[in-house]
This record gives sequence, C-alpha cells and structure tokens, in this order.
Amino acid sequence: MLVEKLKNTLRSILLAVCSLCLMSFTVVIDAGHGGDDLGAVGLVKGIKEKDLNLTVAKQLAEKISQKYPDVKVVLTRDTDIFLPLQKRADIANKNHADLFISIHTNAAENRKAQGAETFILGTDRMEDNLDVAMRENAVMKLEQDQTVYQGFDPNSIESYIIFELMQNQYMDNSLLFAELVQNQFVGTLNRANRGVRQAAFWVLLKSACPSVLVEMGFISNAEEEAWLASKEGQSGIVNGIFDAFEKYYKK
Ligand SMILES: [Zn+2]
Repeated sequence: MLVEKLKNTLRSILLAVCSLCLMSFTVVIDAGHGGDDLGAVGLVKGIKEKDLNLTVAKQLAEKISQKYPDVKVVLTRDTDIFLPLQKRADIANKNHADLFISIHTNAAENRKAQGAETFILGTDRMEDNLDVAMRENAVMKLEQDQTVYQGFDPNSIESYIIFELMQNQYMDNSLLFAELVQNQFVGTLNRANRGVRQAAFWVLLKSACPSVLVEMGFISNAEEEAWLASKEGQSGIVNGIFDAFEKYYKK
C-alpha cells in the first residue's frame, strides 16, 4: 500500500518536472504603452493605442497558450497600467525569452498614411525611421527614474549613436520572424505593405533575444482606425501573428 502510494507520488513529481522541461520555449508579448501613456489616439473614433495593443496582445497570448501548452507565454502587462520601457525588456530577459513581440499602432500627420510595418532592431536606413523610433522611445520621458537610460535622450538625434555601435546577434532570427508577420499582414489580411524595416527602438535594443515591434496599422487614418477597432480586424491580426509564430516555432 505504502509502496504504491510512494510510486504514485514519484510519478506525479516526475510528470511535473517533465512538463517544466518541455516548456523550453518562452514568448514574451508586449502591449505597447498603458496607463497615463495612451500612445497614439484615433482621430475619428478616439480609439486609444494602449487599448488596442492590449486587446491584441491578450488574445494572442491566449491563442498561443491554448494551441501550444508547452510554450511559456508571458505578457508584459495584462491590464491598463503604465510600464517603463526598460521594465518591458527586463521582463523578457528575466524570463529568458526566446522571442519578444511588441505590439503597437501607428500614427502620422498625413491622414492618408496606412498599412502595416514590422520593425526589427537595426541601423539600415535608420534615419528614415527615426520619427517612429523617437515617438515610441519618447515614453521614457514620462518615467520618474531616468537613470536606467544612462543619458539617452529619445528626442535627440545624437543620442542614437549608441545604436550604431551595437552588435545585434539576434538579427537573423528577428528578421525571419518579422518577415513571417509582415507576410500575414500583406498576404492574408490584405493590408498595405510598408515592409520590414529597421529602427532604433530601446525596447528591442535591451531585449536579449530575437525581437520585433509590430505597427499593426494607422490609427490616424479613418478607414484603418475603423478596421483596427473592429472585432474582425482584431481577430485577423491575432490569427495573423499567431500563424507567423507557429511557422517560426516549428522551424
Ligand atoms: Zn506605440
């Protein structure tokens, strides 16, 4: 009797340990902005970027967890809270992330601007994408503790020299995943293709793993705002990034 009990206990311990071993892949999903940091705001419907990002991030996390219980899925935030940029990267690093996906929504003064673009960390044509990098990095100015940024000023072009000096050992895998994501936006979702681009995002620089920043569409474009706010738009995006994840994970 006692032996049988011991055997059962041992079996459940072994099973628990094994399932932990099998959780060998960790994906960190980062909903950009939050709390007092609204991100971009839609001009027609007044949709806030922080809310869109969170909705998509949560649905994506749920879908990956459901289909791949062996994958550890971590959300940097799952509520409407302010989260410092560095903290987002810290979460990825603390969890030993294998992939970091930062979800954002674009905006531009030109209301006709539209389409999806997927960014990886890099300096190729960095100047062309400086405006979007500056906008997404500027959130660090809202943070109380600036010391973690070691004098980096998101609004000063000179500060961006640190990106020129970096070594990006995750470039190939970041590019691979970014292309899979962008293919979904363009092929499956039929969005205007702004391409896979390189830019100087702090959150990507500090995440020690393959990482991308997805700009799902332009909230400043009335038509695209409506699509982004719709259930079908959102589930399309979730399915698209999920399919990209699936392809990347199986490789
Ligand atoms: Zn953003």
